[in-house]
Amino acid sequence: MTSLIAKHLSLGLAVFLLGLPVTTTRAQWLPPNPEPEPEPPPPELCAGGPAIQDPFYAPLWSCDQGQIDDMWSQFELDADDWASFGFSDPCNYNMPLGRLFDSLQLMAHASVDPPACSGGPDNILAWSYCWAAGHIQITTNCFADPDREAEGARILDDDVELFASFFDDSVVGRASVIMHEARHVEGGCGHSDDFDSIFVGPGGGCLRGASCDGAYHDGCSGFFSSSGKGANAYQVDFLIDFVAHSRPDWTTPDIRLHAALLANSLLETAFYSDPCFRFEISGNTVGGIVRPLTSQCEIPPLTGCEGFPPDMLPPNCIGPGIPRQ
Ligand SMILES: [Zn+2]
Repeated sequence: MTSLIAKHLSLGLAVFLLGLPVTTTRAQWLPPNPEPEPEPPPPELCAGGPAIQDPFYAPLWSCDQGQIDDMWSQFELDADDWASFGFSDPCNYNMPLGRLFDSLQLMAHASVDPPACSGGPDNILAWSYCWAAGHIQITTNCFADPDREAEGARILDDDVELFASFFDDSVVGRASVIMHEARHVEGGCGHSDDFDSIFVGPGGGCLRGASCDGAYHDGCSGFFSSSGKGANAYQVDFLIDFVAHSRPDWTTPDIRLHAALLANSLLETAFYSDPCFRFEISGNTVGGIVRPLTSQCEIPPLTGCEGFPPDMLPPNCIGPGIPRQ
């Protein structure tokens, strides 16, 4: 009996509490502008295309937890960035994070040479992972800039931001883009057309329309930038070394061909001055490097430009490797 009364009493109290003050309380706590938050675009916009080469690479590292931890800390990945893009499903290469992981694993493990950490002239593939990790942290913005794959610049921080089309690139293509962006950050290397709107090399222009470097050996532009190879040359060199020095179990003839075609495309279109070498490709077979010599090949820096004011340089002084001062 006691418990029944108590039950009725508590029920009556609950009805009383629920019934009386609800309207007033809600009115007091409504936000001043109760506009609903805009719905974010669906994550399918990022990594919405088919996974290219991921089905080959993902099993090679088996979504190893130690590797995930290493990538997470080395590239300073942030849970907030990836919350909607694979954080809770990192082994799924149909999500952006899984695709990034496959490309970082290629950089870490695909070399026939043992991994190294400092940049050097030989086999970028061996030092790409550690070198890039030492210079960049990776963030993503799947809803920005559909025309570019990524952005990295040494201005305020060492962020490399990945955009939607990055994730629809191939595994080896994505890895080469990371090397490209890391060179922007590490060397302060901008593209020639970012810093000099009238830059015209012997090749006559930037065939891909933007983000071209002056010359293969001299493509680093910007205030306080390094000298030497720029972002496009680093990307090309990574692809070259992938073709030449990747472990047989970390590549296939098709993937090597893909990398060689990608390198040739950059050599063809991403330099004002044609570097004048290409992979020799016959049918589906990649040969060595060939050097077709044409009138538009990269030429050594010209001399005799000293003493002219900036707006009166002779035309032959405006070219790759020529300081315009
Ligand atoms: Zn770039």
